[in-house]
Amino acid sequence: MDTKCVQAGYRPGNGEPRQIPIIQSTTFKYATSEDMGKLFDLEASGYFYSRLQNPTNDYVAAKIAELEGGTAAMLTSSGQAANFFALFNICECGSHIVSSSSIYGGTFNLISVTMAKMGIETTFVSPDCTVEELNAAFKENTRAVFGESIANPALTVLDIEKFAKAAHGHGVPLIVDNTFPTPVNCRPIEWGADIVTHSTTKYMDGHGAAVGGAIVDAGKFDWMAHRDKFPGLCEPDESYHGITYAEKFGKEGAFITKCTSQLMRDLGCMQSPQSAYILNLGLESLHVRMPRHVANGQAVAEFLSRHPQVSYVNYPGLEEDKYYETAKKYMPNGGCGVVSFELKGGRAAAETFMKHLKLAAIETHVADARTCCLNPATSTHRQMTERQLAAAGVPAGLIRISCGLEDKEDLIADLSNALAAI
Ligand SMILES: *Cc1c(COP(=O)(O)O)cnc(C)c1O
Repeated sequence: MDTKCVQAGYRPGNGEPRQIPIIQSTTFKYATSEDMGKLFDLEASGYFYSRLQNPTNDYVAAKIAELEGGTAAMLTSSGQAANFFALFNICECGSHIVSSSSIYGGTFNLISVTMAKMGIETTFVSPDCTVEELNAAFKENTRAVFGESIANPALTVLDIEKFAKAAHGHGVPLIVDNTFPTPVNCRPIEWGADIVTHSTTKYMDGHGAAVGGAIVDAGKFDWMAHRDKFPGLCEPDESYHGITYAEKFGKEGAFITKCTSQLMRDLGCMQSPQSAYILNLGLESLHVRMPRHVANGQAVAEFLSRHPQVSYVNYPGLEEDKYYETAKKYMPNGGCGVVSFELKGGRAAAETFMKHLKLAAIETHVADARTCCLNPATSTHRQMTERQLAAAGVPAGLIRISCGLEDKEDLIADLSNALAAI
């Protein structure tokens, strides 16, 4: 894993640049129309327009595929685009999704509001549901199951095997958003996930420098065995000269090829090669940074769990956490550096606490080298009443802290000061 973080993906030949070249070009030149025609027919691989594919992006995507243990990958302009593309590649008007209810707010909006307008319906299930409850959520038109390995911001841990088994029992793939633990700490494909998505904006970049996303295909799902469910992959694509992706590119390549040649072509949520280059700089140290994020998260969670001003702490690395055992199974080296906790004293206590932080910056961001903090009740969720906040599981005194790479004693001192001010 460590060597792949540094060296996978781009392998320069003799006399070629050591660092990934930024191919800052919208288009690519060919000698004959026949040469280019082969690319359009997907008879040859190559580049013709950076809205669909760019070599810089592909070097970085290849590294992420190796890290996750997948057969193919692509970059997208954001994590939102990655999750939308992953789902929309196999869903259409009239399809149904089974999703964990404990997911990122942006993804919840995407599937419960925007995709609903496209005629794609979703049933949400608790990540802690029984196998019977999970199986009961499936319908005849279900096309995918979705969940987050560690959910942002609830910090619930997905029982990946349970969700994969249910998905496969119903002939559909499991899509796992693996943004928080990253492949350094969790590899969903090894537990049965078929598609893995990322907001690379978070730990993968890790420096708050570039928004981006990624989709990885495990290359294991047998689309042709369920061809009635996935006509987009298993029937000829008339917009691409009658190509049948699952036949021509097999299990290993069909999903990403269709996603690139259809969705990227038509929707164009492409990551810029500049951003892909920045992302790769982050990936080169991901294996060094993640253990430090985890160590700081663990130290901060332990400190908070003993503090009299704190009513509870959510962190899967704490033995008393509901997800401790699940996390130990799927991410034995720890999950991530994000911790959430509730202050006694509600909104007023939270406001005072936030005001007195010095190191931890107030930001709507996580998974950055610099520690940041958020009180949802007075920021992202400020339109909600006290009662609505409680129902949504974000009480007014809830604080989310994303532990960066600083010295843990400095972080604890900062929190300690702010807690003393309440
Ligand atoms: C941030 C985030 C997203 C959305 O990613 P963007 O890059 O902000 O579009 C999706 N899933 C998870 C788990 C996230 O944390």
